[in-house]
Order: sequence, then C-alpha cells, then structure tokens
Amino acid sequence: MSRPIIAHIHTDAMAHNLALVRAYAPKAKVWSVIKANAYGHTIEAAARGFAATDGFALLDLAEAKRLRETGWQGPILLLEGLFAQEDLFAMRDLACDCVVHEWRQVDWLENMVDAPQFSGARPHIYLKMNTGMNRLGFRPDDYLQVWQRLHGLGFEITHMTHFANADYDDRQPSVDAQYQTLEKVVADLPGLRTVANSATLIWHPQIPSDWVRPGIMLYGASPSGASSDIEGLGLKPTMSLRSEVIALQHLSAGESVGYGSRYKTDVPIRIAVVACGYADGYPRHAADGTPVWISGPAGQWSTGRSCPMAGQVSMDMITIDVSDAPWVDVGTPVELFGQYLAIDDVANASGTIGYELMCAIAQRVPYQIR
Ligand SMILES: *Cc1c(COP(=O)(O)O)cnc(C)c1O
Repeated sequence: MSRPIIAHIHTDAMAHNLALVRAYAPKAKVWSVIKANAYGHTIEAAARGFAATDGFALLDLAEAKRLRETGWQGPILLLEGLFAQEDLFAMRDLACDCVVHEWRQVDWLENMVDAPQFSGARPHIYLKMNTGMNRLGFRPDDYLQVWQRLHGLGFEITHMTHFANADYDDRQPSVDAQYQTLEKVVADLPGLRTVANSATLIWHPQIPSDWVRPGIMLYGASPSGASSDIEGLGLKPTMSLRSEVIALQHLSAGESVGYGSRYKTDVPIRIAVVACGYADGYPRHAADGTPVWISGPAGQWSTGRSCPMAGQVSMDMITIDVSDAPWVDVGTPVELFGQYLAIDDVANASGTIGYELMCAIAQRVPYQIR
C-alpha cells in the first residue's frame, strides 16, 4: 500500500494549450519551453502533450537526452547555451541548437568549431541581447561585434532577447522599449527574432517574434501569478496534485491544531488530515485559509467544495477544516491544486506563483501521465 498522493498530468490539456498558443501567434514557430523537468510535468509527458510543437527549449543536456529518448527528432534549444566547452560534444550528439549570451561561450565555439570531431556540424545560434533585464545577454554596444565574429565562423544566427515586464503595464523598461533597443541594433542584419514568452504572447501580441517561447501558459497557469488575469483565455490546467484524507479529528471549542498550535478554534470543528506535506513540494508557507478541494459525496470531484487549511503545513501532512463538508471520511479524495482549484490561487495563499509550485513536486510523488 503506497501513500495516496499522485501528480496527475493531463497531456490532452497540454495539447489544447499549445493549440491556443498558435492562435495567439499564428505565423510564428513555437519553442515549447520544458526546462525544469517541463515545469515539473516530466520531459516524457511534455514530449507527448506538446508533440505538435516546432521545437523544445530547455537548459539541461540530461533533459535534452531524455527528450531524444522519447523519439523527438525535431529542434532542441539550450536556453542558457554551454556551461563548459566539453558540453559541445553532447550538444552535437544530441543535435541541439544553443543560446550564446556570454563571451566565453563565443570562445568555446571558436575553439571547437574547426576541430576534426566537429566536421562541419554547426548548431544554430540564438544570440542574446541584454535589452534591460540585466540578467543574460550582450549589451547593445557589444552585440554587433559578437554577431560579426559568429557570422564569420559560419553560424546561422537568430536574434534573441527576454522581457522583464511583459506582465506589467506600468514598469520600466517596457516591452516596447526593450524591443526597440533590439531592433535598433539588428534591423539591418539577416536573421529571425525570438523574443516572446507567455506574458508577451498574452498581453503584447503586437510584438513580432518569428519563434515564440511560451512556458507557463502551456501549463495553464498565469505569467502574472493571478488566476483572474487568465480567466476567459481558455487555458486548461495540466497538473492536478491529489491525495486523500488519512485521519479525522473532532475538536471542541478552545482547542488547536498542529505544530505551534497556530490554528485555534472557538467553536467545535472537524479537521481532515491529508497525506501531502512540504516534503511532497506543497508550500510550507501556506497560510490558514489556503483552499483545498475536497471531493463530494462518493468521491465525486465536481460536487466537492473548497475548504480552508487550518494549521501549519507539516513535512508529510496538512490539516483542513472540513466542518462544512459533512460527508468527508477517511479515504475521501482531495485535490491540492489542478482541475478544480487554480494552482495560482494556492500559490497566492503561500506568497508564491504557480511556476514554483509546479517545479517543486518532489521526487517521492508518483506521476500518472494520461
Ligand atoms: C523560461 C523561459 C521562457 C518561458 O517563460 P514563461 O514565463 O514560462 O512563458 C521563455 N524564454 C526564456 C529565455 C526562458 O528562460
């Protein structure tokens, strides 16, 4: 008998969300971003759910290898490029394209490209300009020089940048300002552009991007972290974290629940103990009142209701006030987030964003990929 917690992955919802991305950018090609184990969904589920993509973007050669093992033969982009010169061999063997964002990566490519082992193989380069995010990329003043060097070595080059504020409309640098900074330098150079993440696709669809790079919207969550911001867009949740009630406690007025006795009650309540804790990836900072979806009578999901967390999250358990769900018994199925409860709403109650909850699913949680 294993613990009842399971991360359900809905590959049909992933395919649906990818089709929606295409509606936002009908002429663009799509890099489906599957870094961090496909935002916690597994590379294998991503290969299935996003089979209709044009390419997959990730960071890690081990994940690129797993992706090739699923049978994917199309493009793979390494979003942070090489971390060491030796990576060039794995990159060649796995036929990956790569971002170049730093001088030493240019040196490594230059050192290796004429080595006999390379025999003419040339990855496609995504040359990254820092247009104001100040994280990765060459400054606009240096960009042309790097472009000329790589162009001279025979690489095909796509122009790339990343926006800091695509989910805000009142912060600087704006998406438009960053895009203009890129255009000023690359306007007369050959090469396509890749600039749009999910927030850009949703809120700045006028920005041209030959290849778009959606991540979070493919997984049905909001780039801004607020579920209300994507209401009505038609995105579907792709991960449902579910478990069961493993114990019930009947409390009298004046009692408390869990470590530190954080939650105190002044009326009699019923507490359900659910097999899911921070060692499963559930956020330990979840506040009292964080919603948990309790399935309805006979375990029917759609007739269930949201009940509030009561008490500190433990390593292996959480405690929920189910006084308003009198049918709840030991064994009642529970959804922590997913189809019935927006991941962003749970994230909000814990001071984080849906991205982090997806990526945090712990190794000990089994997956069911459907
Ligand atoms: C992660 C990432 C993306 C995807 O961002 P979302 O906000 O998840 O859409 C796009 N581009 C780059 C370079 C990234 O690192």
